[in-house]
Amino acid sequence: SFGRPAMAQQSAPPVAGAVRIQSNECWTGPFSEGVAAAAMLAKEGNRYEPNGEHAKLFAAVAEVEGIPEDHILAWPGSSDPLNRVVVTFCSPEKGLVTGNPSYEQSWRTSQWLGVPLERVPLTAAYAHDPKAMLAANPNAGLYYVCSPNNPTGTITPLEDIVWLAENKPKDSVLVVDEAYIHFADVPSAAKLAATRDDVIVLRTFSKLFGMAGMRLGLTFASPALHERMMRYDGGQVTNMLPMTAVACGTECLKQTAKIAARKAELTSVRAQTLAHLDARGVKYIPGSQANMFMADWGTLGTPKEIQAKFLEQGVQIGRSWDAMPTMSRITVGSAEDMQKFALALDKILMA
Ligand code: PLP
Repeated sequence: SFGRPAMAQQSAPPVAGAVRIQSNECWTGPFSEGVAAAAMLAKEGNRYEPNGEHAKLFAAVAEVEGIPEDHILAWPGSSDPLNRVVVTFCSPEKGLVTGNPSYEQSWRTSQWLGVPLERVPLTAAYAHDPKAMLAANPNAGLYYVCSPNNPTGTITPLEDIVWLAENKPKDSVLVVDEAYIHFADVPSAAKLAATRDDVIVLRTFSKLFGMAGMRLGLTFASPALHERMMRYDGGQVTNMLPMTAVACGTECLKQTAKIAARKAELTSVRAQTLAHLDARGVKYIPGSQANMFMADWGTLGTPKEIQAKFLEQGVQIGRSWDAMPTMSRITVGSAEDMQKFALALDKILMA
């Protein structure tokens, strides 16, 4: 691996042939309409923008979300804008405040930049605690709320998010990461981003839409905030996107019935999986509205040991977080994946 920097792996790399329930991917790929649109666009891959693909995507998003098109930008996933908000709005003087446990990427970016980081424990209901977040740093550059939260899948009520927007200093920015919102039964903060000039919502097609490897994400924010995020590449962010992904996302967004069916499938498989844990007396964090949950092994073994035992049986589960050291994150895969997970669990418990 000459000249290749060590990758900051979020999860262990995939193991060939294993049930992949370690990194919150969707168990299946994009809807067939999206795949067909991507195949068409591949034929026109010589053009930067064959038929106004961005405009079509923004029109589709505006329609679904009820927000103005000039408040929408597209990105190769949501990781890039998540890094950018830290780079843009934080500094050694302007800190970052997040929940704990939560998605760690902004932590890593803040540490690299020398930005003061406050990680504020979730509430007893596993929601973000906006009052404690504001108290932890009343003058932060950025407040980051992940809802549904990774790794717990739990929700922060919109009224608490609104409270934080209204009570933080005007010149700090609130980012609401809604990577998993399509699986949830709660309202989005999209309208907040559409009506205020200090709130950014992050979205991705990597989860319900099954496009993690195709790469497509969105931000909702005022044009002025977007302009600040794009300063270092001269506003040319859109040229980083493959048109195949843009066209695929546009078509997938329109599949209202399929979106509802995929969400219902996830909800049902998650409920069956949690019922199995209940039956076996294995504890977990309740209230997940996403394609993941935290299983608590108690004294059964450390998360690393349990992870290795699952892997011996061809099931690759996720890792632990330092705030929840006896637990592992489990992604909810297909019904078949989760049957294999349940069988492997039973063997581990009986050993
Ligand atoms: N935000 C959250 C909460 C995530 O869990 C992830 C991926 O797992 C991302 C952002 C970034 O994913 P992507 O760049 O694929 O959109």
